[in-house]
Amino acid sequence: MPVQDENSHIAEAAFAATSSLFGSRAKAMEPLSQHGTFGVGGPADVWVSVESEDELARLVTLAWENHFPLLLVGNGTNTLYADAGARGIVARVAIEHIELQPRDEAHVILRVGAGVSLPTLVKKLTPLGWAGLEWAAGVPGTVGGAIVSNAGAHGACVADTIISVRTLQAPGNTREQALVRDLSGDELALGYRTSRFRSGRLVTFDDTGRPHASPRAQIEPAEIIVEARFLLKRDDPCNIAARAKSYLDHRKRTQPPQKSAGSVFKNPEPQKSGKLIQDAGLKPYRIGGAEISAKHANFIINTGGATAADVAALIALARRSVRERFGVELELEVEPRGDW
Ligand SMILES: Cc1cc2nc3c(=O)[nH]c(=O)nc-3n(C[C@H](O)[C@H](O)[C@H](O)COP(=O)(O)OP(=O)(O)OC[C@H]3O[C@@H](n4cnc5c(N)ncnc54)[C@H](O)[C@@H]3O)c2cc1C
Repeated sequence: MPVQDENSHIAEAAFAATSSLFGSRAKAMEPLSQHGTFGVGGPADVWVSVESEDELARLVTLAWENHFPLLLVGNGTNTLYADAGARGIVARVAIEHIELQPRDEAHVILRVGAGVSLPTLVKKLTPLGWAGLEWAAGVPGTVGGAIVSNAGAHGACVADTIISVRTLQAPGNTREQALVRDLSGDELALGYRTSRFRSGRLVTFDDTGRPHASPRAQIEPAEIIVEARFLLKRDDPCNIAARAKSYLDHRKRTQPPQKSAGSVFKNPEPQKSGKLIQDAGLKPYRIGGAEISAKHANFIINTGGATAADVAALIALARRSVRERFGVELELEVEPRGDW
């Protein structure tokens, strides 16, 4: 079968099968630009939100048995979706339970679904007087996405309070069944914007310097985060609220309000990517609808109508300029996803 016919056959079959499980919640040809904060990216053959571990397991089995590509995502706040979109099914992990288990007078264990948004979580915990995650008040991702890159800000990060993670391990070459597996904090390999969930996915750069996602596995990621446990400390709700507010105020002052995916590059410590890009003379610099922000040079903003190719061209330019000027190789913090 010609490739195009085969692709549309897979798209139709994947939509029919996903609709049979999720009804009208399954959407055909859904623009990924609507599901990521960059506001770029072409259509997913099928888009669906999975709201429980059971739904997730059923979707993974369906995709595996029918050979449909499946990509699991969160809020798309650290993701650069391709202009070509993504073949097969893209599913948002929208498991959103929040439960507190007392540990002692001063501590509680938070059990939280991977799909809970960090700002929502902080808003719920603050009046209850449970501290430890308020650094994330202005980080717009989900708990799952935050664990993948060990998100952090204001001197704190996921690694500081996480106890364990519950995962669904996708079937693979040696196994036909998805398995639930609990991983302790020590097994997560959390480091500066990395973890075991991300370390195997290499971003490559083509001859022009543009980024490409690593080749897609049929089900990706192979380890899907379902739930996490964190250890939180008691504190005065007023103190927690004051800290969260100061972090949000700082962001307002220093970060651009336009669509973006936050910091594009990791900081090559002790240097800052934003300063290097600025000193390379690229603040601001525009390609198509994408611009290196005049407010913070490590942010690429969508000024309206940007494509993923525009963003990728700016990434290539910034990396090349910083390498030529300072001999520093910038590494991506955002992840290209979909069919590049
Ligand atoms: C304005 C702005 C400010 C930001 N500030 C910060 C900041 O201060 N610090 C910081 O660290 N980040 C920051 N970010 C980046 C981003 O919010 C975080 O990295 C966030 O935690 C990503 O979560 P997400 O749900 O959006 O993940 P997505 O972008 O949806 O996904 C990221 C990766 O994780 C994978 N993934 C998602 N969910 C799961 C899951 N349940 N199981 C397995 N894999 C999964 C996806 O496949 C993808 O590869 C910012 C972003 C924006 C837009």
